[in-house]
Amino acid sequence: MRYSLLKILTEGLTGNRGWQPVWREPEPETAYDVVIVGAGGHGLATAYYLAKEFGITNVAVLEKGWLGSGNIGRNTTIIRSNYLLPGNEPFYEFSMKLWEDLEQDFNYNAMVSQRGVLNLGHSDAQRDAFARRGNAMRLAGADAVLLDTEAVREMCPFLDFDNARFPIKGGLWQPRGGTVRHDAVAWGYARGADSRGVDIIQNCEVTGFQIENGICRGVETTRGKIRARKVAVCVAGSSGRVMAKAGMRLPIESHVLQAFVSEGLKPVIPGVITFGAGHFYVSQSDKGGLVFGGDLDGYNSYAQRGNLPVVEDVCEGGMAIMPMIGRARLLRMWGGIMDMSMDGSPFIDKTHIGGLYFNGGWCYGGFKATPASGFCYAHLLARDEPHPTAAAYRLDRFRRGAMIDEKGQGAQPNLH
Ligand SMILES: Cc1cc2nc3c(=O)[nH]c(=O)nc-3n(C[C@H](O)[C@H](O)[C@H](O)COP(=O)(O)OP(=O)(O)OC[C@H]3O[C@@H](n4cnc5c(N)ncnc54)[C@H](O)[C@@H]3O)c2cc1C
Repeated sequence: MRYSLLKILTEGLTGNRGWQPVWREPEPETAYDVVIVGAGGHGLATAYYLAKEFGITNVAVLEKGWLGSGNIGRNTTIIRSNYLLPGNEPFYEFSMKLWEDLEQDFNYNAMVSQRGVLNLGHSDAQRDAFARRGNAMRLAGADAVLLDTEAVREMCPFLDFDNARFPIKGGLWQPRGGTVRHDAVAWGYARGADSRGVDIIQNCEVTGFQIENGICRGVETTRGKIRARKVAVCVAGSSGRVMAKAGMRLPIESHVLQAFVSEGLKPVIPGVITFGAGHFYVSQSDKGGLVFGGDLDGYNSYAQRGNLPVVEDVCEGGMAIMPMIGRARLLRMWGGIMDMSMDGSPFIDKTHIGGLYFNGGWCYGGFKATPASGFCYAHLLARDEPHPTAAAYRLDRFRRGAMIDEKGQGAQPNLH
């Protein structure tokens, strides 16, 4: 399906009966050059960049449910590149640059909205840490502004600045951060990949790997066996379960993360705001709903729903920085499965099994990484060497003592 002004006008005048499905529903072939497991944001972006940037189009993306049924359609849509460590910041800034051109690139409205991300600081030590992070961001070519209390007050007068426990002492502001319509990202990448010849096969669960003499030759699925020269796993919260079928145990735990949306309100939140003393973040959708979230549920789970103690905890965080949120009615909430790695950073790497590749460990920050993750995974699959911005995301980094512990919290996956 291609779009143009003429097409919109014609369809508008003829009852909108000529629109075609945005991607095909092909039957699986018996063999492909590359099989990607998982049609989430990262799998679809990988297929798109494989076809567009590296000319590899004999590709299938296999999805056990429907396209976008995982975290790509469940996240709170925040994009930012406000990282500290050299293993992370250039990668996330690369992603930010890809976001900035994405809609023109795949000719699809993904509602990329650079309305800014504000991290609130509540102590002198936190202000110093923000200054350090902001400098690291600027050294990597990103944008960062250190704000004092008055500058934050001007931007967000409704915050509780004099809360006795969490007074607001300033903030770190990234103007180029913001939000993107998450489903549209999946649809745009799917359309772009499909139009270049990639087969996107829904309702096709990968149930095993065909491993012969240490080399992966294909996958077993609920729709039969499919051979492949390369198999690229990209299943986010299901990483542990899927890689176990290849006999691998990953440095990843799966946890539930919940998200919440209020009733529609008049515009009040200028961008994304995060609470610096607890775990709470909020933005406002174009429809007016306050979109917010907080901590993981804290126990290991593969369920896509959470429990009430975290609802209470998230609401407490919201009330601590903006008590007016207590007047808003909650409209809906849901959960997604997070692939929490031991140091909070992801993996884009080959495995010890020939022809089998792995992308995962995105914790609760993988949406913003979608374009760069797809690009770098495609680069690895096409050239068999890591993209320079993703060179640190190796599976053996724990054995080598080369962790990328962005938050300095150690091997505590539920805290990253
Ligand atoms: C509530 C919530 C809020 C979040 N907020 C943010 C945010 O604001 N900003 C941010 O950057 N990140 C956020 N995230 C994290 C982000 O959504 C994820 O890190 C990212 O989407 C994961 O990559 P993905 O899109 O490829 O995953 P998914 O969309 O989960 O894709 C994986 C796919 O693999 C499929 N699959 C699994 N097993 C198999 C199998 N055996 N065979 C075939 N297919 C299989 C699944 O069905 C799924 O469709 C949030 C996540 C949640 C749940």
